[in-house]
Amino acid sequence: MTSVRKALVIGGGVAGPAAAMALQKAGIEAAVYEAYADPADDVGVFLTVATNGIDALRTIGADRDVVAAGFPTPKISLHNSGGKYLGGTNTGATLPDGTESQTIRRAVLYRILQDEAVRRGIRIEGGKRLVAAQRTSDGVHAVFEDGTEATGDILIGADGIDSTVRKIIDPASRPPHYTGLINLGGYTDGVPVDTESCSYSMMFGKRAFFGYAVLPSREVWWYASLPHPKEPQKGELDAVDGLGWQRKLISFFEHDSGPAVELIKKTRNPENLRATTTRSVPNLATWYNDRMVVIGDAAHAPTPTSGQGASLSIEDGVVLAKCLRDLPSPERAFAAFEKLRRPRVESIIKVAGSINNNKAPGPLGAAIRDAFTPIVMKLMANSKFMMSQYDYHIEWDEAVKAA
Ligand SMILES: Cc1cc2nc3c(=O)[nH]c(=O)nc-3n(C[C@H](O)[C@H](O)[C@H](O)COP(=O)(O)OP(=O)(O)OC[C@H]3O[C@@H](n4cnc5c(N)ncnc54)[C@H](O)[C@@H]3O)c2cc1C
Repeated sequence: MTSVRKALVIGGGVAGPAAAMALQKAGIEAAVYEAYADPADDVGVFLTVATNGIDALRTIGADRDVVAAGFPTPKISLHNSGGKYLGGTNTGATLPDGTESQTIRRAVLYRILQDEAVRRGIRIEGGKRLVAAQRTSDGVHAVFEDGTEATGDILIGADGIDSTVRKIIDPASRPPHYTGLINLGGYTDGVPVDTESCSYSMMFGKRAFFGYAVLPSREVWWYASLPHPKEPQKGELDAVDGLGWQRKLISFFEHDSGPAVELIKKTRNPENLRATTTRSVPNLATWYNDRMVVIGDAAHAPTPTSGQGASLSIEDGVVLAKCLRDLPSPERAFAAFEKLRRPRVESIIKVAGSINNNKAPGPLGAAIRDAFTPIVMKLMANSKFMMSQYDYHIEWDEAVKAA
């Protein structure tokens, strides 16, 4: 039985509200502190919550609105720059009631999870950027940028890839790894594409990677990964305006077949296009101390290629709540949490990392990639690894044993 009564959760993205709801279910009070005062904007545009993420939300009864706001995208087909089909794969399994992986705008996912937490009586405070936290004799003391403070028994860092909590736990922790790619995405209506509704089509272009999902309405949500070998300096990407990015994107895809250029040209509100870097946290040395722990991207950020970042973050919140419910001290709960989670998340990050290397190879690399991709896709499609990724299920009533 736990000694923890009150948790301070830092970050109101995906992992934070999911963890807070799971903690409440485990009988632990949680308050969420989010840096931004207003709801998240549309940076990072959209993402897939895979069936393992939906299943984890279902464990805490928070899946329904997410599924209602998304659209199913169970399949991906992959092509080369000439339009040749290289192979296909799934984005998840099918849950017993027929639910499949869902694509949803990132900002909508944030809002739904926050609203659901608030509806359950969980306090979410905006405009609270954590700047410092210390262990006290019997808990933790957090300080926010606006000068306010909070105390609790434990502090959970769900504060994303640039986590402050990660640095507080281990000031020597390495910064996120930059993968050499930048990402952009947008939404387009009225461009006919030769792809079934509710599926993804992706292309290894000559110079960059392009993917899009088709909604039942035939609206298209697209994204691109462009090579950018040197990690951008702060402000460098924002120095290019939306129309500048649109021109750049067109130049990257103008020699490829497929609808990329048309989709980019007709994208809605091109002035809003913004680029973000693709980074990962592949193997963080220290996840916790005796009173603080990191979860989600703060602990283990995969690149978007995995399609698993949000799902793993939700799983983390649920598993951590079980560990805190069942083990007598925070430190033993955190140790059990790390033991249960690290092998899974790090193997997923590793596989996604190797796919990233294929997104922007030279001409010889591209030829080799295109020759081997069909074989690899076939081997991967129903592999034990892929199935273990999607079939992951958290048994809420099963007790957690000490690590
Ligand atoms: C372009 C792109 C595409 C992606 N595609 C997918 C996909 O298809 N499928 C998928 O599963 N994942 C995808 N991801 C990854 C996914 O978005 C992340 O893994 C997921 O959002 C991680 O959730 P999180 O709660 O850990 O972190 P975040 O969602 O980043 O949330 C962290 C929150 O903490 C807040 N915060 C930060 N610092 C502080 C502080 N000091 N004090 C208080 N609050 C703070 C932030 O404002 C934010 O709200 C993608 C990511 C990108 C960039």
